[in-house]
Amino acid sequence: MSAPFVTRFAPSPTGFLHRGHAFSALCAFAAAQAAGGDFLLRIEDIDATRVRAEFEAAIYEDLRWLGLSWRQPVRRQSEHLADYEAALDHLAAEGLVYRCFRTRREVAQAMASAPHGAMDTFRSAPLPKAEEAARLARGEPFAWRLSLEAAQGRLGGFESLTFREEGLGPNGETGLIQARPELGGDVVLARKDVGVAYHLAVVCDDALQGITHVIRGGDLFEAAHVQRLLQALLDLPTPVYRHHRLLAGPDGKRYAKRDKAETLRALREAGMTPERLRQEMGL
Ligand code: GLU
Repeated sequence: MSAPFVTRFAPSPTGFLHRGHAFSALCAFAAAQAAGGDFLLRIEDIDATRVRAEFEAAIYEDLRWLGLSWRQPVRRQSEHLADYEAALDHLAAEGLVYRCFRTRREVAQAMASAPHGAMDTFRSAPLPKAEEAARLARGEPFAWRLSLEAAQGRLGGFESLTFREEGLGPNGETGLIQARPELGGDVVLARKDVGVAYHLAVVCDDALQGITHVIRGGDLFEAAHVQRLLQALLDLPTPVYRHHRLLAGPDGKRYAKRDKAETLRALREAGMTPERLRQEMGL
Protein backbone atom coordinates (compact mmCIF):
# COMPACT_ATOMS: atom_id res chain seq x y z
CA MET A 1 0.00 0.00 0.00
CA SER A 2 1.29 3.45 -0.84
CA ALA A 3 1.67 6.09 1.86
CA PRO A 4 -1.49 8.12 2.56
CA PHE A 5 -1.78 11.44 0.81
CA VAL A 6 -4.22 14.02 2.11
CA THR A 7 -4.16 17.62 1.04
CA ARG A 8 -6.49 20.58 1.31
CA PHE A 9 -7.56 23.90 -0.09
CA ALA A 10 -8.33 26.35 2.72
CA PRO A 11 -9.87 29.59 1.50
CA SER A 12 -11.21 32.35 3.73
CA PRO A 13 -14.71 33.46 2.71
CA THR A 14 -13.81 37.15 2.84
CA GLY A 15 -14.15 37.76 -0.90
CA PHE A 16 -14.77 35.95 -4.17
CA LEU A 17 -12.21 33.44 -5.39
CA HIS A 18 -9.95 34.68 -8.17
CA ARG A 19 -7.54 33.14 -10.66
CA GLY A 20 -4.86 32.72 -7.99
CA HIS A 21 -7.21 30.69 -5.81
CA ALA A 22 -8.22 28.56 -8.77
CA PHE A 23 -4.57 27.78 -9.46
CA SER A 24 -3.97 26.78 -5.86
CA ALA A 25 -7.08 24.61 -5.64
CA LEU A 26 -6.30 22.93 -8.98
CA CYS A 27 -2.70 22.21 -7.94
CA ALA A 28 -3.83 20.57 -4.72
CA PHE A 29 -6.61 18.63 -6.42
CA ALA A 30 -4.32 17.36 -9.19
CA ALA A 31 -1.68 16.32 -6.66
CA ALA A 32 -4.25 14.33 -4.69
CA GLN A 33 -5.46 12.63 -7.86
CA ALA A 34 -1.94 11.82 -9.00
CA ALA A 35 -1.18 10.27 -5.61
CA GLY A 36 -4.50 8.43 -5.38
CA GLY A 37 -5.14 10.48 -2.23
CA ASP A 38 -7.73 12.76 -0.76
CA PHE A 39 -8.52 16.40 -1.42
CA LEU A 40 -10.25 18.29 1.38
CA LEU A 41 -11.84 21.68 1.50
CA ARG A 42 -11.62 23.77 4.65
CA ILE A 43 -13.43 27.03 5.19
CA GLU A 44 -11.23 29.38 7.23
CA ASP A 45 -13.96 31.53 8.64
CA ILE A 46 -12.73 32.46 12.10
CA ASP A 47 -12.67 36.17 11.33
CA ALA A 48 -16.33 36.88 11.99
CA THR A 49 -15.71 40.57 11.30
CA ARG A 50 -14.93 39.85 7.61
CA VAL A 51 -16.56 36.59 6.52
CA ARG A 52 -19.83 36.54 4.61
CA ALA A 53 -22.20 33.65 3.89
CA GLU A 54 -22.40 34.84 0.30
CA PHE A 55 -18.67 34.33 -0.18
CA GLU A 56 -18.78 30.85 1.32
CA ALA A 57 -21.63 29.83 -0.99
CA ALA A 58 -19.62 31.23 -3.91
CA ILE A 59 -16.59 29.10 -2.94
CA TYR A 60 -18.59 25.88 -3.32
CA GLU A 61 -20.13 27.04 -6.57
CA ASP A 62 -16.86 28.24 -8.10
CA LEU A 63 -14.93 25.10 -7.15
CA ARG A 64 -17.65 22.88 -8.59
CA TRP A 65 -17.56 24.93 -11.77
CA LEU A 66 -13.82 24.27 -11.92
CA GLY A 67 -14.61 20.56 -11.83
CA LEU A 68 -13.41 19.86 -8.29
CA SER A 69 -14.99 17.60 -5.71
CA TRP A 70 -13.98 17.11 -2.10
CA ARG A 71 -14.57 14.81 0.81
CA GLN A 72 -17.54 15.68 3.02
CA PRO A 73 -18.15 17.09 5.49
CA VAL A 74 -16.31 20.33 4.88
CA ARG A 75 -14.54 21.57 7.99
CA ARG A 76 -15.67 25.07 8.85
CA GLN A 77 -13.36 26.60 11.42
CA SER A 78 -16.12 28.59 13.07
CA GLU A 79 -17.66 25.30 14.19
CA HIS A 80 -14.51 24.14 15.94
CA LEU A 81 -13.47 27.01 18.17
CA ALA A 82 -13.29 24.63 21.14
CA ASP A 83 -10.44 22.74 19.44
CA TYR A 84 -8.37 25.90 19.12
CA GLU A 85 -9.17 26.93 22.67
CA ALA A 86 -7.98 23.56 23.96
CA ALA A 87 -4.69 23.98 22.08
CA LEU A 88 -4.29 27.49 23.47
CA ASP A 89 -5.00 26.24 27.01
CA HIS A 90 -2.32 23.63 26.54
CA LEU A 91 0.22 26.26 25.51
CA ALA A 92 -0.88 28.57 28.33
CA ALA A 93 -0.51 25.81 30.91
CA GLU A 94 3.11 25.45 29.81
CA GLY A 95 3.76 29.17 29.96
CA LEU A 96 4.36 29.39 26.21
CA VAL A 97 1.94 32.25 25.55
CA TYR A 98 1.32 35.60 27.20
CA ARG A 99 -1.42 38.19 27.21
CA CYS A 100 -0.74 41.25 25.09
CA PHE A 101 -2.92 44.28 25.76
CA ARG A 102 -1.23 46.51 23.19
CA THR A 103 -3.19 48.12 20.42
CA ARG A 104 -2.00 47.78 16.83
CA ARG A 105 -0.62 51.28 17.08
CA GLU A 106 1.30 50.51 20.24
CA VAL A 107 2.80 47.41 18.62
CA ALA A 108 3.88 49.48 15.61
CA GLN A 109 5.39 52.10 17.91
CA ALA A 110 7.27 49.49 19.93
CA MET A 111 8.75 48.08 16.73
CA ALA A 112 9.67 51.50 15.37
CA SER A 113 11.50 52.48 18.54
CA ALA A 114 13.50 49.25 18.79
CA PRO A 115 17.27 49.87 18.93
CA HIS A 116 19.08 50.08 15.57
CA GLY A 117 15.78 49.69 13.77
CA ALA A 118 16.79 46.04 13.78
CA MET A 119 13.46 44.80 14.99
CA ASP A 120 11.08 44.15 12.18
CA THR A 121 9.08 41.62 14.13
CA PHE A 122 7.38 42.11 17.43
CA ARG A 123 8.66 40.43 20.55
CA SER A 124 7.67 41.16 24.10
CA ALA A 125 7.09 39.49 27.44
CA PRO A 126 4.30 38.95 29.93
CA LEU A 127 3.36 42.01 31.98
CA PRO A 128 4.22 42.06 35.67
CA LYS A 129 1.49 40.14 37.51
CA ALA A 130 0.02 43.17 39.29
CA GLU A 131 -0.31 45.23 36.14
CA GLU A 132 -1.85 42.33 34.26
CA ALA A 133 -4.35 41.75 37.07
CA ALA A 134 -5.29 45.43 37.08
CA ARG A 135 -5.86 45.49 33.34
CA LEU A 136 -7.91 42.31 33.51
CA ALA A 137 -9.97 43.79 36.33
CA ARG A 138 -10.65 46.81 34.13
CA GLY A 139 -11.86 44.48 31.42
CA GLU A 140 -9.21 45.52 28.90
CA PRO A 141 -9.13 43.29 25.82
CA PHE A 142 -6.00 41.26 25.14
CA ALA A 143 -4.54 38.96 22.53
CA TRP A 144 -2.52 35.84 23.29
CA ARG A 145 0.95 35.85 21.78
CA LEU A 146 3.38 32.98 21.42
CA SER A 147 6.52 33.63 23.46
CA LEU A 148 9.54 32.78 21.31
CA GLU A 149 11.70 33.02 24.37
CA ALA A 150 9.63 30.50 26.30
CA ALA A 151 9.40 28.25 23.22
CA GLN A 152 13.16 28.36 22.80
CA GLY A 153 13.61 27.46 26.45
CA ARG A 154 11.18 24.60 26.20
CA LEU A 155 12.78 23.09 23.08
CA GLY A 156 16.35 24.03 23.91
CA GLY A 157 16.63 26.07 20.69
CA PHE A 158 15.06 25.76 17.27
CA GLU A 159 17.82 23.78 15.53
CA SER A 160 15.85 20.55 15.59
CA LEU A 161 12.93 22.14 13.76
CA THR A 162 12.97 21.30 10.08
CA PHE A 163 10.36 20.70 7.42
CA ARG A 164 10.39 19.23 3.95
CA GLU A 165 9.64 21.61 1.12
CA GLU A 166 8.75 19.86 -2.12
CA GLY A 167 7.82 23.07 -3.88
CA LEU A 168 9.62 26.37 -3.73
CA GLY A 169 9.86 29.21 -1.26
CA PRO A 170 9.98 32.76 -2.62
CA ASN A 171 13.79 32.60 -2.76
CA GLY A 172 13.96 29.17 -4.30
CA GLU A 173 14.04 27.35 -0.97
CA THR A 174 13.47 23.65 -1.41
CA GLY A 175 14.35 20.33 0.22
CA LEU A 176 14.96 20.08 3.94
CA ILE A 177 14.39 23.53 5.42
CA GLN A 178 15.62 24.72 8.78
CA ALA A 179 12.64 26.42 10.42
CA ARG A 180 13.33 29.93 11.64
CA PRO A 181 10.27 30.89 13.67
CA GLU A 182 12.15 33.88 15.08
CA LEU A 183 11.57 35.60 11.72
CA GLY A 184 7.89 35.90 12.58
CA GLY A 185 8.30 37.32 16.08
CA ASP A 186 5.87 36.61 18.90
CA VAL A 187 2.89 35.91 16.66
CA VAL A 188 -0.68 36.37 17.84
CA LEU A 189 -2.33 33.00 18.45
CA ALA A 190 -5.64 34.39 19.68
CA ARG A 191 -6.87 37.74 18.49
CA LYS A 192 -8.53 40.20 20.82
CA ASP A 193 -11.72 40.23 18.80
CA VAL A 194 -12.13 36.63 17.64
CA GLY A 195 -10.34 34.56 20.28
CA VAL A 196 -8.17 32.57 17.86
CA ALA A 197 -5.85 33.44 15.00
CA TYR A 198 -4.68 31.97 11.71
CA HIS A 199 -1.52 30.05 12.69
CA LEU A 200 -3.07 28.23 15.61
CA ALA A 201 -6.23 27.25 13.73
CA VAL A 202 -4.29 26.01 10.70
CA VAL A 203 -1.88 23.91 12.71
CA CYS A 204 -4.70 22.30 14.70
CA ASP A 205 -6.77 21.64 11.60
CA ASP A 206 -3.95 20.24 9.50
CA ALA A 207 -3.32 17.71 12.28
CA LEU A 208 -6.99 16.97 13.02
CA GLN A 209 -7.72 16.43 9.34
CA GLY A 210 -4.69 14.21 8.85
CA ILE A 211 -3.17 16.49 6.22
CA THR A 212 0.02 14.91 4.89
CA HIS A 213 0.76 17.57 2.26
CA VAL A 214 0.13 21.29 2.56
CA ILE A 215 -0.12 22.69 -0.96
CA ARG A 216 -0.54 26.46 -1.08
CA GLY A 217 0.89 29.67 -2.49
CA GLY A 218 4.49 30.70 -1.89
CA ASP A 219 3.25 33.78 -0.04
CA LEU A 220 2.63 31.43 2.90
CA PHE A 221 6.13 29.94 2.93
CA GLU A 222 7.15 32.10 5.90
CA ALA A 223 4.08 30.88 7.76
CA ALA A 224 5.46 27.34 7.65
CA HIS A 225 8.32 28.41 9.94
CA VAL A 226 6.11 29.39 12.85
CA GLN A 227 3.63 26.62 12.08
CA ARG A 228 6.48 24.13 12.38
CA LEU A 229 7.25 25.51 15.84
CA LEU A 230 3.61 25.21 16.91
CA GLN A 231 3.55 21.59 15.73
CA ALA A 232 6.53 20.88 17.96
CA LEU A 233 5.00 22.64 20.97
CA LEU A 234 1.65 20.92 20.55
CA ASP A 235 3.15 17.53 19.71
CA LEU A 236 1.52 17.39 16.29
CA PRO A 237 2.88 15.79 13.13
CA THR A 238 4.54 17.96 10.48
CA PRO A 239 3.14 17.67 6.98
CA VAL A 240 5.23 17.96 3.84
CA TYR A 241 4.96 21.43 2.29
CA ARG A 242 4.60 22.22 -1.40
CA HIS A 243 4.48 25.95 -1.87
CA HIS A 244 3.69 26.86 -5.44
CA ARG A 245 4.44 29.91 -7.56
CA LEU A 246 1.96 32.76 -7.45
CA LEU A 247 0.11 33.58 -10.61
CA ALA A 248 0.74 37.08 -11.85
CA GLY A 249 -1.45 39.19 -14.09
CA PRO A 250 -0.33 41.01 -17.23
CA ASP A 251 1.00 43.83 -15.02
CA GLY A 252 3.30 41.37 -13.27
CA LYS A 253 1.44 41.72 -9.98
CA ARG A 254 -0.09 38.72 -8.27
CA TYR A 255 -3.84 38.39 -8.24
CA ALA A 256 -5.54 39.66 -5.13
CA LYS A 257 -9.02 40.06 -3.80
CA ARG A 258 -9.13 43.61 -5.11
CA ASP A 259 -8.95 42.42 -8.76
CA LYS A 260 -12.67 42.28 -9.31
CA ALA A 261 -12.35 41.44 -13.01
CA GLU A 262 -10.34 38.32 -12.20
CA THR A 263 -12.82 36.70 -9.85
CA LEU A 264 -13.96 33.32 -11.12
CA ARG A 265 -17.52 34.58 -11.35
CA ALA A 266 -16.54 37.57 -13.44
CA LEU A 267 -14.45 35.36 -15.73
CA ARG A 268 -17.31 32.88 -16.03
CA GLU A 269 -19.77 35.62 -16.90
CA ALA A 270 -17.35 36.83 -19.54
CA GLY A 271 -17.50 33.40 -21.18
CA MET A 272 -14.41 31.73 -19.70
CA THR A 273 -14.48 27.94 -19.51
CA PRO A 274 -12.67 25.84 -16.90
CA GLU A 275 -10.68 24.18 -19.70
CA ARG A 276 -9.39 27.46 -21.06
CA LEU A 277 -8.61 28.71 -17.58
CA ARG A 278 -6.45 25.65 -16.92
CA GLN A 279 -4.69 26.14 -20.22
CA GLU A 280 -3.98 29.78 -19.50
CA MET A 281 -2.47 28.76 -16.18
CA GLY A 282 -0.25 26.21 -17.84
CA LEU A 283 -1.97 23.28 -16.18
N1 GLU B 1 -6.87 30.70 4.62
C1 GLU B 1 -5.61 31.04 4.06
C2 GLU B 1 -5.80 31.96 2.86
O1 GLU B 1 -6.89 32.05 2.34
C3 GLU B 1 -4.82 29.83 3.58
C4 GLU B 1 -4.23 29.09 4.71
C5 GLU B 1 -3.31 27.95 4.34
O2 GLU B 1 -3.40 27.38 3.23
O3 GLU B 1 -2.52 27.57 5.19
O4 GLU B 1 -4.86 32.61 2.46
